[in-house]
Amino acid sequence: MTIKTLIRTIPHYPKPGIQFRDITTLLKDPIGFRMVIDAFAQHYANHNVDKIAGIEARGFIIGAALAYKLGVGFVPVRKSGKLPAETIGHDYALEYGADRVEIHTDAVAQGERVLLVDDLIATGGTAEATVALLQKLGADVLGCAFVINLPDLGGAQRLSDAGLVPFSLCEFE
Ligand code: 5GP
Repeated sequence: MTIKTLIRTIPHYPKPGIQFRDITTLLKDPIGFRMVIDAFAQHYANHNVDKIAGIEARGFIIGAALAYKLGVGFVPVRKSGKLPAETIGHDYALEYGADRVEIHTDAVAQGERVLLVDDLIATGGTAEATVALLQKLGADVLGCAFVINLPDLGGAQRLSDAGLVPFSLCEFE
């Protein structure tokens, strides 16, 4: 059993032609979920992570479990209008549509080493927008962790080209 084989593909979701990679089948498997968190924890053990930023909504699940395992704090990056205190936001284009991410202005301190976590990287728009927010707050973004990379959509390459360090546990064509 591997992480990849526990991920289910839903054809034509949320739009015709999209192959949605569904991690709920991975998360509900106790061994699968543990494999994901342990793989990330092992990879980032010596990276001096101060804080994890998880992207709504699946990035919360992975990011929070990893923060607990690494013994660091967790901050949520949310879609527009969901955070209660003062925020900054960034608009970006998505694989299907447009969106905006926001973060509390006091979520991270100047110079903190932050690891970004999400379930999947496609075009990289969501991750890039989140990195922009974190950097605006003065964070040192040490890496970007994803369960799934879709290399054909070029997001991981875009992050690398921007001097960021993507890491993923499996790939789908
Ligand atoms: P990007 O901004 O890299 O184009 O898209 C990545 C974002 O869209 C992530 O937040 C991810 O959760 C979501 N996403 C796009 N396609 C999929 C998919 O096939 N499966 C899952 N689980 N999330 C997706």
